[in-house]
Amino acid sequence: MFDRRKFIKSSALTASLLAIDKTGIASVLPKAPTSADSVKPLVISTWDFGIAANHAAWDVLSAGGRSLDAVEKGVQVPEADPKNQSVGYGGMPDRDGKVTLDACIMDEDGNCGSVAALEHIMHPISVARMVMEKTPHVMLVGDGALQFALENGFQKINLLTPESEKAWKEWLKTAKYQPVMNIENKLYDKAAPTHLPGNQYNHDTIGMLALDAKGNLSGACTTSGMAFKLHGRVGDSPIIGAGLYIDNEVGGATSTGVGEEVIRNVGSFLVVELMRQGYPPEEACKEAVMRIIKRKPAKAKEIQVGFLALNKKGQYGAYAIQKGFSFAVCNEENKSLLIPAKSYY
Ligand code: ASP
Repeated sequence: MFDRRKFIKSSALTASLLAIDKTGIASVLPKAPTSADSVKPLVISTWDFGIAANHAAWDVLSAGGRSLDAVEKGVQVPEADPKNQSVGYGGMPDRDGKVTLDACIMDEDGNCGSVAALEHIMHPISVARMVMEKTPHVMLVGDGALQFALENGFQKINLLTPESEKAWKEWLKTAKYQPVMNIENKLYDKAAPTHLPGNQYNHDTIGMLALDAKGNLSGACTTSGMAFKLHGRVGDSPIIGAGLYIDNEVGGATSTGVGEEVIRNVGSFLVVELMRQGYPPEEACKEAVMRIIKRKPAKAKEIQVGFLALNKKGQYGAYAIQKGFSFAVCNEENKSLLIPAKSYY
């Protein structure tokens, strides 16, 4: 476990690390890059499908673009992929057969936008960005979010693919709501398909964090949520502070897994606040996972939650309850790294 005392002792508490806020309380902050530092752009995201998403984000970052544009472009890739049954088009429906999407986005100035339980729109992330940029609000849900999207030129489409419809009809035979724990391990079994039939492979999210050449951080998070959820259920992914949080002074965090547990612990905000206190990204993610486990040890055995974090210095890390969570990293040196996260079990 990360020993904060040791960290503080061993870190030379130079003036650049010790910040005194307005209340006079000292806090340890990661050293933010100065204009003299050369900032290397970087993008990280959840799961194996993050690799292709990172490539799209990298096109923006490597051209000197803004991290906000990078994360929007990046997560649009799995949103549009019908083979990805946990994000966007082709996502698993709720128990009424409706595909309802959750997404949010946050920029370097703390601006954020979000949509929840949005139907019929291929790119909920872009609607979330429009909520952020064109309205005085942070979050629009359900019919109101759809109305806003249509009024702003988004196309109405059918998100339910024949494959996801088939999986839903199969599920209806038993109609048992049971998020399948740790199914992600199968991703490491070369014989198993990456995307399994719906009754087995029933939740995941793309959460993406990017640092651009100017040293600014942004993040995006988008999902179809838990397969066969109650109609109207909203997970952690569109909730600022739960599924995603960015503080441009410190870092960013995002989550995947059973959203109810992440919401209860305001997971991504917690990870960022721990990094503010000096925790390295992986240790911050671990501490947030431990918070979930300590609160509900019996439940935690059966579910997966994973956190991913990036700090202002470009250091990143992840941690999950169960084995099997992986994250993708893309930078100048390596465009397609897939790293298995450490886990409690
Ligand atoms: N966090 C998502 C939700 O609860 C699902 C996932 O990432 O596995 O909707």
